[in-house]
Amino acid sequence: MKIGIVGAGVAGMTAAHRLVKAGHEVEIFEASSYAGGLAAGFPVAGTTMEKYYHHIFTSDTCIRGLVDELGIRESLHWLTSQMGFTYKGKLYPFGTPLQLLKFTPLPLLDRIRFGLQALYLGKVNDWKKYEAVTGYEWMKKHSGEALLRIIWEPLLKGKFGRFYDKVAMAWLWARIHTRASSRKGTQEKLGYFKGGFEVFHQALADSIQKAGVKIHFKQPITRVLTANGKLKGLEVGGKELNFDRVIFAAATPIFLKTCPELPPDYVKRLTQLDFLGAQCLILVMKQKFSDMYWINIADADIPILALIEHTNFAPLDWYQGKHLMYVGNYLPQDHKYFKMKKEEIFSELLPHLKKINPAFEESWLEEYFLFQDLYAQPVVPLHYSGLKPGYETPIENVFLANMALVYPEDRGTNFAVDVGNKVAHLIDPDILIPNFNE
Ligand SMILES: Cc1cc2nc3c(=O)[nH]c(=O)nc-3n(C[C@H](O)[C@H](O)[C@H](O)COP(=O)(O)OP(=O)(O)OC[C@H]3O[C@@H](n4cnc5c(N)ncnc54)[C@H](O)[C@@H]3O)c2cc1C
Repeated sequence: MKIGIVGAGVAGMTAAHRLVKAGHEVEIFEASSYAGGLAAGFPVAGTTMEKYYHHIFTSDTCIRGLVDELGIRESLHWLTSQMGFTYKGKLYPFGTPLQLLKFTPLPLLDRIRFGLQALYLGKVNDWKKYEAVTGYEWMKKHSGEALLRIIWEPLLKGKFGRFYDKVAMAWLWARIHTRASSRKGTQEKLGYFKGGFEVFHQALADSIQKAGVKIHFKQPITRVLTANGKLKGLEVGGKELNFDRVIFAAATPIFLKTCPELPPDYVKRLTQLDFLGAQCLILVMKQKFSDMYWINIADADIPILALIEHTNFAPLDWYQGKHLMYVGNYLPQDHKYFKMKKEEIFSELLPHLKKINPAFEESWLEEYFLFQDLYAQPVVPLHYSGLKPGYETPIENVFLANMALVYPEDRGTNFAVDVGNKVAHLIDPDILIPNFNE
């Protein structure tokens, strides 16, 4: 079959990998000039690092299996990390049970309750019951006043803004469950590639290109061409190209814009899933900001969701001794930060960085970068299993393979691999979905 894939992110490239191995003729059209989508990197400190902070969990079997298949296992390192939490401007270590017990902003009973809650949610497998209640409501009921006010409410508001009380508990369950099942003992290990996720994308892109897949960069598709409810092809650069099957592996809002023949009830269903944008300011510094890898910021007056000091996780000598830190935010698409220049964002956030570390000086900085993407995080509503689109769309031979299909887990590169595997199997049932758990 002749198969066109929209998007050279992890999902699109994984699908191409399976399909070309099965003997199909595959072409990928990618709007940008690079592969990897949201997990793509940029050159910094003599190597590459992701535009948005990335790591994988030990439980991420799909991507780990593909890493092995591509022969790059030795590039994947399992690293320990320190987690922190700010409360009223003070930074607390918050990664291990002992650190939790020492987290004095919470009364002792609430610290114990928080630990037990995480243990409980880590063990529960029946997530269906969490579809009918929002994370906020569930936490309100089961956490008590202090835990809700000091931990859960700031975390939910920081991540989801005005949607904080709309996100289903199923999403929160999945976040906690994944972390719990990935943890062995008290110290968490997270996976990261020496050379960045770029090593993985490059290996995947090289492998599929060698097998005959054509990746057309800077070639956004402008329309999915259809006739009488069936696929005809793709419109790219003013040309009409015919395909037997199309996999749409870019974000749903782009699918809705470029496929005008979709029936209104399907469009209505897909638009129930809101997306937040992501914005990361990346600081390249001469000295470290803190000792933590990840700091969740629970202060309502600090407009930053988290600080992720990458070089407190990946070894400093991979980065020529430069300290790299993400200042991360998820924001609604109409947020003023998306209209501001890099320098304006930096000036806006700088005083807040000083609140977290008063010693921090602008002179520590060598340079900074800004990256942003409008469709970065789905806001999972109640009863999403009834709304979630399938791989097949109402247009015959057009398949959807993006993060809207990942549920109840949170989107991630592991699930992008899973989606790519599954859509390839659906198109050609002779392609077996690899069972990486074996
Ligand atoms: C801030 C942040 C932190 C994250 N942290 C992690 C993490 O720690 N671990 C983890 O595993 N995952 C993480 N993720 C999620 C991970 O990056 C995504 O789940 C994954 O990369 C999604 O892959 P995808 O292929 O489904 O989609 P995408 O990466 O979105 O790829 C879609 C591709 O389609 C292209 N495209 C768009 N429009 C068109 C068009 N018209 N024509 C052709 N091409 C088009 C895009 O340019 C893009 O390359 C994070 C994401 C963000 C934003």
